[in-house]
Amino acid sequence: MATLSNPSEIAREALRQLALRRVAPTPDNYRKLYAEIAGTRIDDDTPSEAFLRKLARRLPRDMAERQRLGREFDQALSSGQLKAAEDALGRYLDGLKAVEQPAWNELIINLLRAWEARQQGWTTARKREALERVLNAAEPAALYSRLQGLLRGWNNQTPVEDGPDSSEHTSPAASPEPTRASATPHPAHSPVVAAPAAGEGQELIEGLRKLLLSALRDVVPAVLGDHPELADEASQLANEIAQTLKPAQLEPIGGRIRRLAHRLEMITADDAEVRAGLLELLRLLLRNIDELVLDDNWLAGQIEMLRELVDAPPNPRMIDDAGRRLKDLIYKQSQLKHNLVETQRHLRTMLAGFVDQLARFSESTGTYHDRIGACAQRIAEASDIGAIGPLLDEVMLETRSIQDKAKRSRDELIAAREQARAAEERIAKLQEDLDEASRLMRHDQLTGALNRRGLEEMFEAESARAQRRGSSLAVALLDIDNFKRLNDNFGHKVGDEALIHLARVVRQHLRPQDVLARYGGEEFVILLPETTPAEAYNALTRLQRELTREFFMTDQQKVIITFSAGLTLMRREESMQPALARADAAMYQAKQAGRNRVVIADDKASSA
Ligand code: GH3
Ligand code: MG
Ligand code: MG
Repeated sequence: MATLSNPSEIAREALRQLALRRVAPTPDNYRKLYAEIAGTRIDDDTPSEAFLRKLARRLPRDMAERQRLGREFDQALSSGQLKAAEDALGRYLDGLKAVEQPAWNELIINLLRAWEARQQGWTTARKREALERVLNAAEPAALYSRLQGLLRGWNNQTPVEDGPDSSEHTSPAASPEPTRASATPHPAHSPVVAAPAAGEGQELIEGLRKLLLSALRDVVPAVLGDHPELADEASQLANEIAQTLKPAQLEPIGGRIRRLAHRLEMITADDAEVRAGLLELLRLLLRNIDELVLDDNWLAGQIEMLRELVDAPPNPRMIDDAGRRLKDLIYKQSQLKHNLVETQRHLRTMLAGFVDQLARFSESTGTYHDRIGACAQRIAEASDIGAIGPLLDEVMLETRSIQDKAKRSRDELIAAREQARAAEERIAKLQEDLDEASRLMRHDQLTGALNRRGLEEMFEAESARAQRRGSSLAVALLDIDNFKRLNDNFGHKVGDEALIHLARVVRQHLRPQDVLARYGGEEFVILLPETTPAEAYNALTRLQRELTREFFMTDQQKVIITFSAGLTLMRREESMQPALARADAAMYQAKQAGRNRVVIADDKASSA
């Protein structure tokens, strides 16, 4: 390769080589190629991507802060921003410095002050003894942390009796884990609290021990599903605490509990970060899908609802619902994509045929022009009329042949156009089928509420959840009042708008865990988990108030919709239909009683 000197030529050549050699178009590869073409060495001070990657793998990530900074570094690297990666690395190193360079001067001054001050329970002899033990630590970091612990101990003025057996007291340096509590000496016979009175103190200790036991046995393992080794450690600790403890055992157990707590803290922080990260990913995905399917109303509506769901605080039901809606989306998208690929293939074949045709046509017209040109030449040069006759015959022949060819091309073009139209029709039909299929999915097209199938699935999930937790599940059936009259007065389109309006108001004023489904024409079902009949009654009457407040307008006219509702509680092991039948009977009573009201099903009457 000839050496180039103009920077823009080198740059162009580097880009060309990048494409030619099929190497990944990373900044690093570009730099290498640029240097190679320019005949120079890479000698600026930006580290190579490969080197940074190697470094990234070896960075310790043993603390939440280091994990966070490490991730920033990784992200900058994977998006190819070497400068940003370098900056992130700088921040990581600064963080390291902060951890590794403790403020010794401050600590020493404070220690001196505390040494000279008088604290209850800390004689000078006792202070010296504690200090000597702490000074046994070999590691500067451990020493620093133990000295801090000691300082806290002195300043907290934990009362300590200075008896002859004081050397047996647990003391800071005896603990393998340098932390606040370990630096606070405990009197040998009251390991946890200073007892106000022997009996009471014992009772208090026993109570605290039970609380700790239940936290370690029941609470901690429940949140540690993904970390069996930590859950095991928690149960082991619980077992040890359940046995009679000697004061000397407290210190190591305390250390283990603190380590466990620290790990738990890290795990919780990680989990929160994972959750936030996943939601952000989902948001990104939604924004992306949105751009792909702008022209499809159904998809756009689904995406809008998904976005609302994702923006609300996350809870298991929201994840369930989002999952279901995403599945529907993915299904429909895959169908659309299939259609698009099919159409593209068709168009490509057609276009290729057309270009071939054009090429052949211009080839033959080219030949025609040449031949006619040659004939004209020969005619011009002809000396007698007899020679011109055959030449004219030749011209006629050529002209007729080109006419034939032109006609054939035209016919072929017309046929191709016909094919394209047929393809278009086929696609429109497919689109209709798809809309039909999505109607059969879980959401009602008009209101976005669940349809019957969606309701059945949600009922299964919610009733199982209610049985598992022993909680109640309220089921309500709503029917819009005098809806036929509204349709008659304002037209079917306004009727549709009323349905959309109702669904929107209901969704807005119910809790995120409540489920709304369109059961039929102007009938809706609401599932209210963990709700008593009285609470459900209040929720429904609140909806009625909101509906009268949030009327909607049509042709400058206020339209107020009301509904009548029946309400019941799901019984144990009950399926949806009997519960709905009870709610329906109660709804009928509400209609009979004058509409725009809520009736709770009479349990005894309808249980027969
Ligand atoms: P009631 O207070 O007793 O419930 O009276 P109603 O008029 O609401 O009840 P009825 O069952 O007599 O009429 C229901 C009407 O709802 C009839 C039907 O045309 C209309 N409807 C059903 N589905 C739709 C729909 O999707 N859009 C519109 N605009 N109207 C619908
Ligand atoms: Mg009805
Ligand atoms: Mg009605």
